[in-house]
Amino acid sequence: MDNKQNILREIPKIDELLMDEQLIFFMETTPRAVVVDAAREVIEGIRKEVLTEHMEEVPDREEIVEEICRRVTGKKKKNLKRLVNATGVVLHTNLGRARLCKGAVESVLSVADSYSNLEYDVKKGTRGSRHDHVEQIIRQITGAEAAMVVNNNAAATMLCLSAMAYGKEVIVSRGELVEIGGSFRIPEIMEQSGAHLKEVGTTNKTKPSDYEQAWNPETTGALMKVHTSNYRIVGFTQEVTLKEMAALGKKLSLPVIYDMGSGLMADLSRYGVDEPTVLDALKDGADVVLFSGDKLLGGPQGGILIGKKEYIDKMKKHPLARAFRVDKMTIAAMEATFFEYLDMEDARRNIPVLRMITESREELSEKAGKLAELLHSMVPQAQVSLEDCYDQVGGGSAPTIRLKGKAVSVVLSGVTAEKLERLLRRAEVPVIARVAHDQVLLSIRTIDENEFTCVAQALALAASHAEKKGE
Ligand SMILES: *Cc1c(COP(=O)(O)O)cnc(C)c1O
Repeated sequence: MDNKQNILREIPKIDELLMDEQLIFFMETTPRAVVVDAAREVIEGIRKEVLTEHMEEVPDREEIVEEICRRVTGKKKKNLKRLVNATGVVLHTNLGRARLCKGAVESVLSVADSYSNLEYDVKKGTRGSRHDHVEQIIRQITGAEAAMVVNNNAAATMLCLSAMAYGKEVIVSRGELVEIGGSFRIPEIMEQSGAHLKEVGTTNKTKPSDYEQAWNPETTGALMKVHTSNYRIVGFTQEVTLKEMAALGKKLSLPVIYDMGSGLMADLSRYGVDEPTVLDALKDGADVVLFSGDKLLGGPQGGILIGKKEYIDKMKKHPLARAFRVDKMTIAAMEATFFEYLDMEDARRNIPVLRMITESREELSEKAGKLAELLHSMVPQAQVSLEDCYDQVGGGSAPTIRLKGKAVSVVLSGVTAEKLERLLRRAEVPVIARVAHDQVLLSIRTIDENEFTCVAQALALAASHAEKKGE
């Protein structure tokens, strides 16, 4: 006990430590409170170790100051940071879904650091509406009568149901009661919106007559179709197509709502992506179509509502519209993303999500070869080779499609694949890779050429870690 007290007495006082030249220097660029905080944490940590973990000797002053400096540097690092997605999953929800196109990034920057006409009509010199900026271009691209953008597709669903069917029944097929990751479940969103879910059909089969029989002129508010974005029902199945539902809606004088989820604008069937397109949805007669901004559209997070003006106008005036409204940066990015769609070929080239999905294995091979060469020259101790792989669209879109991809396989002798995968995540710019058959695979589809040096740095760091451990 006495001994412990003696050791504790050796711990320097915080006030003393703060007079250290190095820390004084730090305080010129870092708030004093941050440095003091770090010093307190370090001292507290030492005290604890002496008391509980039998630390026999207090680290010397120099070591303590160094540890404080490391802490301060750590505290100054942002939590949200860039990383390299080497998983080959294009729309990876955990990794931020869609990368924005250049035009969108430029637009965001330009409205972020200056004032803008967000709600101002420059021509008239009067108040304007934030909806106008995106509505025009979305109408032009989709041919819809009206459009609006909210925070995400979950918000769009809620707003739409609340504005169109509050206190009424909305008929949905049992085969379409989807859950989209996290806590988005159609039955729950429906309940929160104030509309009542009326389920019809069975999990595998729903017929037009099922909707008709469930219809009650007094209580039914709308028919709703939900795209089963993240699963497919196969085998003995039947679903009511949007076209059939639109015909039914007309017959029964009910609006038809279509939650598409993925929001594919350009036809990608040529590239093996068999998702329905937004244009088809309108053509097939949906009254309101909802989709995400950051899935196959390739824009910022957002929920896009398009369709008949009478319904969209109702939503714009709804109190939830204020709660779900998007900020200027989202509007800027969304407008710029839609601009790319004025020419579908431009869109395919310039929107990263579309470019990545449509890249052929030949193009990917060439890119993978370049990365392999760089890795080989910068980290010669690693064994690097090219492998075929299969990639995914992700983000709960096109769940059954396997995109033919190419990966750079990396092996470090004496290091398991799992360990190497972990080490790659420790880099300044972490690299998120996958492990298959005892190899770390860096799928080239989701890696940009300007990220190659980051990958090489991460691998070099991993190799040096591994060597240190091996000694
Ligand atoms: C993804 C998806 C949603 C949720 O969209 P968020 O933009 O992520 O809120 C809703 N419905 C369907 C059918 C989806 O695929």
